Order: sequence, then C-alpha cells, then structure tokens
Amino acid sequence: MHSQKAPKNGLTCKMVLQAVGKVLRKSKTKPNGKKAPAEEKKHYLEPEYTKVRVVDFDLKDLVALPAREIDLNEWLASNTTTFFNLINLQYSTISEFCTGDTCQAMTAYNTIYYWYDERGKKTKCTAPQYVDLVMTFVQKLVTDEDIFPTKYGKPFPSTFESVVRKVFRYLFHVLAHIYCAHFGQTVALELQGHLNTLYTHFIVFVRHFNLIEPKETCIMDDLSQVLCETHNHVTER
Ligand SMILES: [Zn+2]
Repeated sequence: MHSQKAPKNGLTCKMVLQAVGKVLRKSKTKPNGKKAPAEEKKHYLEPEYTKVRVVDFDLKDLVALPAREIDLNEWLASNTTTFFNLINLQYSTISEFCTGDTCQAMTAYNTIYYWYDERGKKTKCTAPQYVDLVMTFVQKLVTDEDIFPTKYGKPFPSTFESVVRKVFRYLFHVLAHIYCAHFGQTVALELQGHLNTLYTHFIVFVRHFNLIEPKETCIMDDLSQVLCETHNHVTER
C-alpha cells in the first residue's frame, strides 16, 4: 500500500493539515453513541475531498466489456476479484480504527447491516465482524473452481450472476461503512484519493452491469452523483 501512496493532486500540505485538524477536532466532540448520528456532516462531500483522485480518465470506457472475444462472465469474474482485493486493501488501512467498541454495528448512517448465515438466520454483529464475514465469504467464493472457474473450457455455474450480485452488495456495504465511519481517518492517512477512485470505479461498474438494486445504493447517491458526474469532466492531471 505504501508504494502506491496517493499523489496529492493539488491538495497542498496546508490543506492536509487543515483536514487532519478537522478530524482531530471532530473526534473530540464525537458522542459515544452506538452509531454515527444521521445529522453528522458529510465531510467527504466537500469539494476539497471530492476533487482528489488518483487517476482521471473515462471510467465508462474502462468498465465496458473490452472485446467481443471476452466472455461476459469472465469479465465479471475478473472484476469481482479485483474489486474484492482493492476494497479489502482499502479497509485494511483503517481496520485498526474499526473495532467492536468504535463500531458496535455495521452501519452506514441510519442503516444497520445484518449478517444472514447459511441458514438465512439474521445476526447482528460488530462492523469488524461483519467485514470479516464478508471477506471470508467472498474469498471462499472467488477461489472456488466450481463458481469462479479458471481452467479453460470449464463453464460458469447458472447461479454465477446472482453470486456476483451478492458479492457486490456486500462490498458496497464495506465501502459505505468506510465513508460513513472512517473517512476522517482515511483523510489523515492521505488515502482519500484512492478511496474516491475506487468508489467511483465501483459505482460506474455496478451501474453499467446493473449489479446492485438502486434502493441499496441510494444512501450514498449524493456522493455517487458528485464523483461520477464530475469525473467525466476532469481532463487535467
Ligand atoms: Zn468501523
């Protein structure tokens, strides 16, 4: 991760210090409630943050199926694995701050995500437990040769698309939690450029292949709108 440190892209040292100061001030006043209060200001929507990204190019070209020779399922499989690895890595940068004490439930604003076990039983768990369950679940799937076949000629199962949808929904929960509960720490680490780029790529991909129900992603629509719309207008590096 350190070798991929985000370029500052116009974010001056002064701005970083201001951002860190804001984070520190915020943490002092943060109530000890079980979940983040809904009225909390969404710092990640401020232009000084949304303009920071690692790469600027047209993500719509990047997400589309690149050539007729590539099978749609192959393309979905390869992107699923890539997003899983990148989101796992992004979460790992703030995982020391995401504990059973700080995040007693898997929240994104007023939404609490519950884990459903293999029998469909709903269980409430802390955010780090939930993320661990997600990552373990996805790791198991993407390395299962019957579900994500890598050998030439081995077909994808008929359930493949529904599996992919499930994985993307879970990964979205992790991204939403990072923004809603750990954005200040991400800024302090100067990794908001990575997070914004990853999130934008993820949302553009999800929309292109219609992988998550809009009612699921609507809690982050304000950010998606800012990042995905402005992205197409940014041409300078
Ligand atoms: Zn957390």
